[in-house]
Amino acid sequence: MGVSKKKAGLAALGLGAALVSASAVSATDIKVIHAGELLAVPGEAAKANQTVVIEDGRIREVRDGFVAADTFGEAAKLIDLKDSFVMPGMMDMHVHIQGELGPDQYRETLQMSDEDRGMRSVMYANRTLKAGFTTVRDLGAEPQSVFALRKAAAQGWVDAPRIVAAGSSVAATGGHGDVDGMQHELLEKFTSKTICDGADDCLRAVRYAVKFGADVIKITATGGVLSDTNTGTGQQMTDEELKTIMDAAHALGRKVAAHAHAAEGINAALRAGVDSIEHGSYADKESIRLFKKNGAYLVPTLLAGHTVVNMAKTSNFMSEDIKAKAIRVGGDMIENFKRSYQSGVKIAYGTDSGVSRHGTNAQEAVLMHEAGMSAMDILKSATVNAADLIDMSDSLGTIEAGKFADIIAMDDSPLEDIKELLDVDFVMKGGKTVKNQ
Ligand SMILES: [Zn+2]
Repeated sequence: MGVSKKKAGLAALGLGAALVSASAVSATDIKVIHAGELLAVPGEAAKANQTVVIEDGRIREVRDGFVAADTFGEAAKLIDLKDSFVMPGMMDMHVHIQGELGPDQYRETLQMSDEDRGMRSVMYANRTLKAGFTTVRDLGAEPQSVFALRKAAAQGWVDAPRIVAAGSSVAATGGHGDVDGMQHELLEKFTSKTICDGADDCLRAVRYAVKFGADVIKITATGGVLSDTNTGTGQQMTDEELKTIMDAAHALGRKVAAHAHAAEGINAALRAGVDSIEHGSYADKESIRLFKKNGAYLVPTLLAGHTVVNMAKTSNFMSEDIKAKAIRVGGDMIENFKRSYQSGVKIAYGTDSGVSRHGTNAQEAVLMHEAGMSAMDILKSATVNAADLIDMSDSLGTIEAGKFADIIAMDDSPLEDIKELLDVDFVMKGGKTVKNQ
């Protein structure tokens, strides 16, 4: 609806001039993108010379050819991307937006307040957005400050990706997801309320997480690379705990993402009904069968593996236990990913950024491509599949009428050269252009 129609309506009601000008301020905002090449729906072919019409932050329509902007109202603004490849904003299903791995990690835990950390995460989130990632799922953070960032991003108070957040992990005492590597008094102090032991306690932990704002429940089904407890990468939560967690989360309308490396832990989580396996480093034949049977997603995080292997070899801040695990697991991840992909397991894009640097999220695509995944499947994993994993296919993942105008562009097609994703030139989130160079 145009401005003039609104004004006429108000005039007919006999309202004054002040109200009429107020209505002009909130007039429909229309933007028109001329896209040289448009991949509206990853998985389908890209089309040349397309017009995308955006109204109040959502896609209104997509038309063939370059349709003049003023066709859609005199105030409609043209965004010229005639020389670019245009696609939906990418979505990273596994980040930790509050930190970055490095030698300062423990010092920061002791010195930074949650408020400081929250403010810094605005910067990390902004880098992520400008790298072309318009939605992220945070799977492990100080809960209230990540939920505040989620709100600030949703309200437009800061330029940050849409955030789906877990808060703190539901994890076993002494396991991956619990705190480690500090004085005993400090370990007590930093133990989160979502650490649980036994089915009843884990039921409480899930409900507690949801009560305080979790969109998704993150669990650590097995040991992890970066926990300094020499507990390996095997199953850490019992079958009974896992089953209770899935049922409790699903009953409250939350999906469950399980960190898992060793096969028995992956399989136990899949049997219990998990929605996604994070890392999945040692998925075996049975895992692949269970993935396909349940329709669960694998979120591979190859970039995390790649990063920790490099850090283990070139720096000295990790303990010997962690270094050994990093080199073993990081190296094995790729082969396991290849096998899962080739067997037809559903893949959703995820980097574990925070292990790697925020804003380098597109490096995952390069690693997936090196491991044999097709460029189109990679783009699909970062859009259509990710939207499906977080149950937001009705508003995210493609450039189609009714969806949020989360749109990115680059010079050339990443379908020809996946490295184009490393150099995103244009980013729009919810109809707001946050980068155009
Ligand atoms: Zn993680």
